[in-house]
Amino acid sequence: MAEMINLDAVTEGLRTIASLRNGVSDLFKCLTEGVGGPVIDPYSGQPKTSDNEPTEEAEKQFLADVQGIVEGITNKILVLEKSCDLLSHPTAQVSVQLSLLAQDPALERNGVYKSVVSCYRWCDRMHDYVTQASHILNQNICRRSTIALDPLQRILIPGGIGRRSSFATINTPSSQIDAFFNNLSRIHPNVTLEISRPFGAPTVVFITLDRILKGCLLLHGLLIEWVIVKGINEEFKTADGTVDIWSDSRYEVFRKISDHCNSATLNFATPVHVDLAVRSWLNWFVNYNTLFTKPCRKCNHRLLDASPPTWRDFRTADCYHEKCRP
Ligand SMILES: [Zn+2]
Repeated sequence: MAEMINLDAVTEGLRTIASLRNGVSDLFKCLTEGVGGPVIDPYSGQPKTSDNEPTEEAEKQFLADVQGIVEGITNKILVLEKSCDLLSHPTAQVSVQLSLLAQDPALERNGVYKSVVSCYRWCDRMHDYVTQASHILNQNICRRSTIALDPLQRILIPGGIGRRSSFATINTPSSQIDAFFNNLSRIHPNVTLEISRPFGAPTVVFITLDRILKGCLLLHGLLIEWVIVKGINEEFKTADGTVDIWSDSRYEVFRKISDHCNSATLNFATPVHVDLAVRSWLNWFVNYNTLFTKPCRKCNHRLLDASPPTWRDFRTADCYHEKCRP
């Protein structure tokens, strides 16, 4: 702990300085007045008219006065020096003991120590969070943001951010879309894809999943805009042969699945890699081939309120009833 300041010495020193000032002021006043008193009348401000020569007695008195005042000043200077000696010399201590600067003089008087401990814990927790977040984000290869990476990382992640998808625009050629869905139908042998363009540029894809259900996708480029799911015995064409993509299924089960499919398009949507969004959506959609066979993961029943588990989890593809969804 740092040495306390001697307040008594400081007080005595200040008092001595004030007295010293008075002594010096008296000395100059005495010298100004000269022998025999002031030569200027202090009341009228005019020089005195007396022409009398100062007597020898007056000169002795003047010298005695000056000598007395000078002795008083000398004594006061000695007292001031003693007061200064009683004080510590901070500059000398700093020069030889710099380590004292790092010590807190009074822990209980300020909150520096608590603030430092709190700051250290905060930084420690932040470091842990950043480490965990970095680990989780590095696992997600299929990034959706358009943040640029360094060239090395573009090489390590083929098809990642560095390579822009050829399906990024809505003006994708129809031949390219056809080739894309032909490739998808080879990946999923239990899915039948039929491509039609009854409205011109927009592509309509009819999906038949085993003998479970039928679906209809309305695409703008490769962006899924609308999904309708119907039963295997229902049709998307009216009696006169026109395509009807707006009327719902007459079964409650498939109307529910239509809602979930439209939700899934938003979940898998990505503005840059639209082909990846369609591929992810279809990978999720084919899980409905167990619509009537797989029991609910939560209640382990196939039917609840006369309905099969119509919900498929976006990430794990587990099936749940509407009321059993996590
Ligand atoms: Zn259930």
